[in-house]
Amino acid sequence: MKKHNFNAGPSILPREVIEDTAKAILDFNGSGLSLMEISHRAKDFQPVVDEAEALFKELLNIPEGYSVLFLGGGASLEFCMVPFNFLEKKAAYLNTGTWAKKAMKEAKGFGEVVEVASSADANYTFIPKDYTIPTDADYFHITTNNTIFGTELKEDLNSPIPVVADMSSDIFSRPIDVSKYACIYGGAQKNLAPAGLTFVIVKNDALGKVSRYIPTMLSYQTHIDNGSMFNTPPVVPIYAALQTLKWVKAQGGVKEMERRAIEKADLLYNEIDRNKLFVGTAAEEDRSRMNICFVMTPEYKELEADFLKFATERGMVGIKGHRSVGGFRASCYNALPKESVQALIDCMQEFEKLH
Ligand SMILES: *Cc1c(COP(=O)(O)O)cnc(C)c1O
Repeated sequence: MKKHNFNAGPSILPREVIEDTAKAILDFNGSGLSLMEISHRAKDFQPVVDEAEALFKELLNIPEGYSVLFLGGGASLEFCMVPFNFLEKKAAYLNTGTWAKKAMKEAKGFGEVVEVASSADANYTFIPKDYTIPTDADYFHITTNNTIFGTELKEDLNSPIPVVADMSSDIFSRPIDVSKYACIYGGAQKNLAPAGLTFVIVKNDALGKVSRYIPTMLSYQTHIDNGSMFNTPPVVPIYAALQTLKWVKAQGGVKEMERRAIEKADLLYNEIDRNKLFVGTAAEEDRSRMNICFVMTPEYKELEADFLKFATERGMVGIKGHRSVGGFRASCYNALPKESVQALIDCMQEFEKLH
């Protein structure tokens, strides 16, 4: 049976990316060696890093003066690296979900943290809009897509101070104006690569402004100075990321990814709104295109486990909602074809007919 992979992360990757990476794992570049057994400093591997960096810059239209880094540690390590490198006295955070809250918690160890607004009281079903960003803070931290709660900031904010963004789960799903950010980071395992890789886009002249000692490995400057090769980077995920970037480019770039994301999200939200059994959990204007969260309407609440079983039997994978929301979550990342969304909609309609 065909599987439709709605996993929230690690998640679906383009089939070609998996096949090309599998080939390189068996024989990298005709070298007779596996990608897993070569040095990251091998002359054949340097072009992989260089090309991945160049494609990152090309696809996201990254201006001069920014560096792209490939690191380990996940987005969670960035929660501490960001304040380590940027927080001198005070930082502002927008609390829009579990990940935003974790980022904020780490920052508190480095200085004063201002929560400019929070939707915690509403179980993060919306993204706060009325708030003032303190102009004396070193940066304003946002989470553009709230993977767990299914809300998304789909535009680049205007801010009087440098913006730092966790874009783990919506990077490459729309064009962004990178010049509005001092730093953009994320775990690659949602929309780019297998787990083990963290990407960081950093504005070079935003660094060097804190007075504390920064441990070598936690300093962005170290990784800029060493071209992401200060220590051994995650070679296989970087190779896979390069294949994904090539795939995104061949499909028409981030503009095309955005068009597809809107098309898929509209299809599924329309069905959620139409179908008497289901209801969306996120405020309509903040609905995520990447993680679509919905539950059974109160009247049909007891059918939740039945629907999960019904859909699983028809090939749907990973649609169980996160425990903090319940119900269902369909993650519709770049690599998820429209046909998978249609297959889920068919399940929802068939199930509705039975009840
Ligand atoms: C998954 C996720 C994280 C955590 O990423 P790790 O790489 O596992 O540390 C952080 N932020 C967001 C928005 C995420 O979706």
